Amino acid sequence: MSSAIISARGVQKSFGRVDVLKGIDLDLFEGQVMCLLGPSGSGKSTFLRCVNHLESVSGGVLTVHGQLVGYRERRGRLYESSEAEICRDRSDIGMVFQHFNLFPHMTVLENLTIGPVTVRGKSRKAAAVRAVELLDQVGLGDKLKAYPRQLSGGQQQRVAIARALAMEPRLMLFDEPTSALDPELVGDVLAVMKNLASEGMTMLVVTHEMGFAREVADVVVFMDGGVVVESGPPGEVLDNPRNERTRAFLSAVL
Ligand code: ADP
Ligand code: MG
Repeated sequence: MSSAIISARGVQKSFGRVDVLKGIDLDLFEGQVMCLLGPSGSGKSTFLRCVNHLESVSGGVLTVHGQLVGYRERRGRLYESSEAEICRDRSDIGMVFQHFNLFPHMTVLENLTIGPVTVRGKSRKAAAVRAVELLDQVGLGDKLKAYPRQLSGGQQQRVAIARALAMEPRLMLFDEPTSALDPELVGDVLAVMKNLASEGMTMLVVTHEMGFAREVADVVVFMDGGVVVESGPPGEVLDNPRNERTRAFLSAVL
């Protein structure tokens, strides 16, 4: 029996009086790939941000790696996590955004080594060796000394993935990683993600790439209006959606 890496039960998130997440229930198990679909504004990014400790939840229970997000239990009571505890929990999670967010003043190699050296306490040498391996894996072994601005969007996004992997995460979150790319660059980024999935990485991916979802996802979740409307294997949710809202969304994007 594999363990739940993410477990959400009735997860709510409000900003002021705006209820964005209205009770999310889902489980992501170790080694699984989950694709999260849904119209703009349905709360997909907000959910990812909660998983990655960038937002606190307003209600319900969210655990990642068996640990309650934002809280620690001591002697049967809950306390808000300290900054150091949040940092530790986050260091097991890699996140890739739509806009690559590389450090512009650092070379590709420096982008990959800074985290492992400063946060993980790796030696510069060990961090550089691992960085070179990862850059080879994403097909950019010849770009160590390049600066982000010298790379295409697709190359920058592959560097961003390699940078997240350099921290040796146990879970990878992707928030529309190919939405900002020219169409001809999308395939290379998806290929890297597919590779990662085949190596057994646990992944939660917000995407509108239906081909990727169909081929790579174990579970597809369709969200609308801050709730999970429908979830299941891609063959069910994409080819045979039971819910009217899922059907309407799919006919608009496919
Ligand atoms: P999606 O990623 O599915 O497009 P988001 O999670 O980005 O949706 O946003 C869902 C809703 O939450 C939107 O209406 C957005 O305006 C609102 N929202 C997101 N972040 C904030 C915030 N920090 N403050 C206020 N409202 C927010
Ligand atoms: Mg979003």
